[in-house]
Amino acid sequence: TAPVLTIDGPSGSGKGTISRIVAQRLGWHYLDSGALYRAVGIAAGWADIDLSDASALVRCTFDTEIGFRDDAAGEPRVIVNGLDATDELRTETAGAAASAIAAIPEVRAALKDRQRVFRQLPGLVADGRDMGTVIFPDAAHKVFLTASADERAERRYKQLKDKGVSVTLDGLLREILARDARDASRAVAPLRPADDAVRIDTTGLGIDGVVALVLDVVSR
Ligand code: C5P
Repeated sequence: TAPVLTIDGPSGSGKGTISRIVAQRLGWHYLDSGALYRAVGIAAGWADIDLSDASALVRCTFDTEIGFRDDAAGEPRVIVNGLDATDELRTETAGAAASAIAAIPEVRAALKDRQRVFRQLPGLVADGRDMGTVIFPDAAHKVFLTASADERAERRYKQLKDKGVSVTLDGLLREILARDARDASRAVAPLRPADDAVRIDTTGLGIDGVVALVLDVVSR
């Protein structure tokens, strides 16, 4: 079976950016598991499903088609039910919806196999919250990225501003703290490092520095 590097951590820890670069360097596949939860969240929104209606959300999980592809410029795009939803997926509204539906055990179960199929040769970098604990517990390489809440909010702020989304730093910090608290306190697959994960605090570190530390974990 193909080797797996799991990269878990809270929102804004730099997981997405780091995972993509590391996957590129290794020539491995990349799984953005958060995009699956976000995709179901926005599909539920499109279908006017209430975020408190668990059984409708579970049905929506099975019904939602999610595809990943790179556009002509090599930018990753996410296609939800045939529509390019990449920009909508990045919003904090989609993040909050994802976090709400991610607390439903049947939703998580329904997405398990859809994540595991990404494990293909020559290898996989899996980015998420429970990659090392639930989805790929046998992964050979596990990393848990953290950063201070202020720095995480700042990173998200820059990311969203670059995309032309209007947000305030204060509002983002509040939303991120609320989402983290929910992700860490839920009954199923709460956010926590796998026992065998290498923890890396990225506060004050640049992208290159973190990439080097993660590649170091893989070459051990
Ligand atoms: O990583 P991202 O911010 O895209 O994830 C959005 C939300 O999806 C998280 O706040 C979390 O609640 C949920 N999620 C999860 N398990 C994963 C990935 C994401 O529960 N593996």
